[in-house]
Amino acid sequence: MANVYYETDVDRSAIADRKVSILGYGSQGHAHALNLKDSGVQVCVGLRDGSSSAAKASEAGLDVLSLSDASAWGDVIMVLLPDTEQAAVYEEHIAPNLSAGDALAFAHGFNIRFDLVNPPDDVDVIMVAPKGPGHLVRRTYEEGGGVPCLIAVEQDATGGAKDLALAYADGLGGARAGVIETTFTEECETDLFGEQVVLCGGVTELIRSAFDTLVDAGYQPEICYFECLHELKLIVDLIYEQGIGGMRYSVSDTAEYGDLTRGPRVIDDGVRATMAQILSEIQSGEFAEEWVAEARSGRENFARLEEAGHQHRIEQVGSTLRAMMPWISAGKVSVQEASGGQG
Ligand code: NAD
Ligand code: MG
Repeated sequence: MANVYYETDVDRSAIADRKVSILGYGSQGHAHALNLKDSGVQVCVGLRDGSSSAAKASEAGLDVLSLSDASAWGDVIMVLLPDTEQAAVYEEHIAPNLSAGDALAFAHGFNIRFDLVNPPDDVDVIMVAPKGPGHLVRRTYEEGGGVPCLIAVEQDATGGAKDLALAYADGLGGARAGVIETTFTEECETDLFGEQVVLCGGVTELIRSAFDTLVDAGYQPEICYFECLHELKLIVDLIYEQGIGGMRYSVSDTAEYGDLTRGPRVIDDGVRATMAQILSEIQSGEFAEEWVAEARSGRENFARLEEAGHQHRIEQVGSTLRAMMPWISAGKVSVQEASGGQG
């Protein structure tokens, strides 16, 4: 079982005298900067020139510097930029400003695990990864709680890397919920696998394949949308709150019998073999290499696949049906709107 730490395990002096530079002010960046500041930690935000986030960060009472100046000012540099941009920013702005004894910090292991960023031996390399999106990290902190965090130490040059990671996680509110120790390798490989096989890839393809099967068999698309997509939330909420056993307890016996007998036929040995293959592509670095090359070459394939997704008939019927259920999005801005202002 994993090591789990709480507030009483934290040595707050490990971060009290440090200067923390948060590079990026997106989903994670704004939450880290504001939570640390409210926890009494000295912070600044590093943004590229002309960033539209600068005004937002300043209005929130944060000092905003250029990426290079922030890297020079801070002795803890937290990199909260898109994973595909981190290596270039590291080379240009961070590396020239790193001093012996500084700490380089990440919220995801990708760039260290796949050797895209290669820090010198005399700096600490740590990870503090909240297990939730930034707005939740901020909201739970303001409510007096916190989102559980993962911490990891890749390189301990000072002897204090783990204490620092723990104190940083505590500053985010994470130690109120629990801080779990992992490694860059474990966090990175399991994170990629989860999003590819279950959370994003697996779920979306399961939904669309089931929807297509029903529509092709002559059922009305609206009905198929409800059965294969809309009702997923109800089931996921039950699983999230009470586990798979709790969900099975709540659904009808007929649904549970279908689950128990048909589930293993849908996810059969062939699918399990594919999962193992996808894991090995992550572990070997094949996936990372492919994605970095895609990002560097202008994301043509990415854009084509994304557009094909938009053209799928489930999107049409979905937008019509969601308009009939305004309460679904009541009080919420669309994800496109919410992220449109970042930069
Ligand atoms: P984001 O896209 O929300 O924000 C990235 C920030 O970097 C924005 O301020 C953007 O303007 C800026 N930026 C983009 N390109 C840049 C460039 N070339 N130079 C300088 N700045 C640039 O990203 P995020 O979701 O906050 O992710 C940041 C890190 O946190 C990633 O390593 C990610 O894997 C990790 N993470 C994210 C989540 C999450 O739920 N979003 C959870 C845990 C960890
Ligand atoms: Mg993830």
